[in-house]
Amino acid sequence: MGEEALPNDIVDALGLNDPSRFIRGFWRDNLACEALKLPTGQRAARLPALLAKPDSLPAIVYVPSRAMAEEVAAWLRARLDAVPYHGGMESSARTQAQDAFMSGRSNVIVANVAFGMGVDKPDIRTIVHMSAPQSIENYYQEIGRAGRDGKPSRAILFYSWADKKLLEFFHENSFPPVEKLAQFLGTVPREWTPLDKVARPTDVTEENFEAFLKQLHNHGALEWSPTLGIANRNGKSWVERYLKQEEHKRFQTDEIFRYAESNRCRMNELVGYFSTQEAGEKRCGQCDNCAPASTMGGGLRSAMPRERAIASSMLSLLTARDGQAAGMLLTSVASRKSVGRSEFEAILAALDRAGLVRISRESYARDGKEAQNRKILLTRSGRRNNGNDLDLWVDADSVVRSDGPASRRRKPRGPFRAGTAQ
Ligand SMILES: [Zn+2]
Repeated sequence: MGEEALPNDIVDALGLNDPSRFIRGFWRDNLACEALKLPTGQRAARLPALLAKPDSLPAIVYVPSRAMAEEVAAWLRARLDAVPYHGGMESSARTQAQDAFMSGRSNVIVANVAFGMGVDKPDIRTIVHMSAPQSIENYYQEIGRAGRDGKPSRAILFYSWADKKLLEFFHENSFPPVEKLAQFLGTVPREWTPLDKVARPTDVTEENFEAFLKQLHNHGALEWSPTLGIANRNGKSWVERYLKQEEHKRFQTDEIFRYAESNRCRMNELVGYFSTQEAGEKRCGQCDNCAPASTMGGGLRSAMPRERAIASSMLSLLTARDGQAAGMLLTSVASRKSVGRSEFEAILAALDRAGLVRISRESYARDGKEAQNRKILLTRSGRRNNGNDLDLWVDADSVVRSDGPASRRRKPRGPFRAGTAQ
């Protein structure tokens, strides 16, 4: 997304009314970003150790719900002065929590998105997201509250595919099928009609009906007033605008997970989302992908000797033939050492993370459907590296296959089938 094309909603979401913001740019030198794939149930347990590290307080912990703000704050309170902050609290209690945090009496605030607007505390050291936010715009804005004093700060994102499923579920609920909207709109009179006189579609719950009205109202198809009810405005272009917004929201969700899954410099990914020109080829040198040894969350571990050997094998196969498809590279490396798909993927990600290879994704048509092909290309440092002293970091959960005598004693294997060995 180029600077010229920055949509207005990004400008609004980030509060970028001040044009000098564009001149200063998006890059933040003092923010080390980290993303950690972790099941929902294991995230809170990571917090005490994470926040006990030197210079990690004060901290904001963002949670997706009011209930979680209470729960997580209570869980942390045994160890830290944590306060909850969410929309369901009395406004006096919210002010108290905010004051405690601002004055330093509390060093952790556990908040849902309601917290942070207009808060300018310069010394926030850590921002933790307990689940994936809805967009890069939101994420960038929230982590932007750390380190305004210019000192080193961290942003840690917990995520998993369960988060994606949940966001997709919310998306489906807030964006009903356009045919259904149109069908309902056809039943709405042009004159003001009280809501209880309007026939709610039989297959739509009361809760989802609100999404119907909201979307039609937002896109100019009908007017909605708390006192008068609704009135059909027969807007012409609402369908097109609605579909465009729906697609944009879906894109935003996809992008936050692309960010989370990336093996590339996180600051570069964030900045590149807003301005590829500003991001360029820069690396921050401090995120989990640039500097895996200093990660806070422990999402990566140093590669084992066997994994290094496989990586080195992959590099030499690529040196012989650069730009191989991922599947072909797997088959070749597996014929030398018995490597399963998940192990291969973890090592490939590690090579990508270390900047030794680049994974280029190409879409092509197969049987009338769109399929993806991954080509693995050596980078300049990948071509220089003979694999002797690789500094590789793999996903901490990746399982190392035994390479010991026991496996050597096994009977000769049958023909290898790519992608089946685990
Ligand atoms: Zn980086």
